[in-house]
Amino acid sequence: MNRELQILIAGGGIGGLAAALVLARDAHRVTVLEQAESFGEIGAGIQLGPNIFRMFDYLGLTSAIDRVASYPTHLGMRDVRTGAQVVRVPLADAAKAAYGYPYGVIYRADLHEVLLNACRALGNIELLTSARIESFSQLADRVKVSLTEGGEHEGDALIGADGMWSRIRETIIGDGKPRVSGHIAYRAVLKRDEVPSHLWRNEVELWGGEKTHLVTYPLRRGELYNLVAVFHSDKYEEGWNTFGDIDELKARFTDAVSPVQELLQKINVWKMWVLCDREPVKGWSKGQVTLLGDAAHPMLQYLAQGAGQAIEDACVLREALRANDSIADAFKAYEKARYLRTARVQLTARFYGDIYHASGVTRELRNHLFQSGKESAGFAGLKWMYDGIDPAAMFAQ
Ligand SMILES: Cc1cc2nc3c(=O)[nH]c(=O)nc-3n(C[C@H](O)[C@H](O)[C@H](O)COP(=O)(O)OP(=O)(O)OC[C@H]3O[C@@H](n4cnc5c(N)ncnc54)[C@H](O)[C@@H]3O)c2cc1C
Repeated sequence: MNRELQILIAGGGIGGLAAALVLARDAHRVTVLEQAESFGEIGAGIQLGPNIFRMFDYLGLTSAIDRVASYPTHLGMRDVRTGAQVVRVPLADAAKAAYGYPYGVIYRADLHEVLLNACRALGNIELLTSARIESFSQLADRVKVSLTEGGEHEGDALIGADGMWSRIRETIIGDGKPRVSGHIAYRAVLKRDEVPSHLWRNEVELWGGEKTHLVTYPLRRGELYNLVAVFHSDKYEEGWNTFGDIDELKARFTDAVSPVQELLQKINVWKMWVLCDREPVKGWSKGQVTLLGDAAHPMLQYLAQGAGQAIEDACVLREALRANDSIADAFKAYEKARYLRTARVQLTARFYGDIYHASGVTRELRNHLFQSGKESAGFAGLKWMYDGIDPAAMFAQ
């Protein structure tokens, strides 16, 4: 693409901002339309696999991320009812040696801010808030979006990075609401001095049990401690930021070992996520419009990859636009380069959810496989994912 485009992006989350950044660096003019009153992310942690660090390298953001990320020493799993260690994989140097990049964790708001600051440093990105897209139309080679509160924006292309409940997807694919998994996540963040020292560990630790698990890890280089408790429930409320029912949570963890009980008791207010995903599909690019991140391939969080896959999308989308003369061809090429990898992550995430929450023979089999002699046995099967991608090589002639 050797002309300057006006690109509209629906949604200023991690995926939308990553896309704005790479496209603006290629001298396109970008308008990000975010429905919220201000740009920001909820307070919780996310894990960043080595494939995501590979993208930070591609984006030139490694040192900015390094200033706010933490690097746990191990990734482990224990039985929530007995405390027995199921598997403990070394990270740090071992992750770098295996995949070329580290395994880290980060406060979502910090990752979002790194991207936002990088966008603000460029003169060709317009960042608009209170701008909820209601609908869009394609007119010859232009796209027009209409905002709920009135007003329109026009551009050469539209990228729907508007998340799990994407408005843009409704028109492009029209496959209804996301699939409710029946799993709920409660999340909370503790300050360093709120965590008893015998419970503090610089590790990502998953306490797994039948239909439940708890994940803990430190954030902001040890200032904070992240907790995410997941269990099966039939409650359903759309969105990512409603308050959780503490009694329901306690009931799900009554059999948990004392360190888990002790940690859970430290928290009075939990925020709740109802976990959803979708069946993998293709056909996310139509003419001048495409989808990115959760709008294209929403996944359960069990592989800790949703934000990472959104960032990979952004980098590949940029390379596809560089390599094609028409926007429609570029968007098709981008989708073709992405849909099988993201589908594999979507489906594998479901599988990992099942084995984390296993009971009976499935639990025995999981433990047997995870403990099969190699320290990395539980995660060795994810090499295809953690090795990551090379966006610049994808469309080379
Ligand atoms: C419990 C849990 C744990 C997770 N852990 C991890 C992890 O460890 N690692 C990881 O990589 N991922 C993780 N994820 C997944 C990750 O959070 C998502 O995949 C990621 O946030 C997707 O980014 P996105 O930009 O595509 O969508 P979103 O973050 O949902 O952003 C969409 C944006 O679009 C805006 N928007 C929506 N509709 C409109 C509209 N009509 N007009 C304008 N704006 C609109 C929204 O306000 C929002 O700002 C986790 C998710 C959950 C639920």
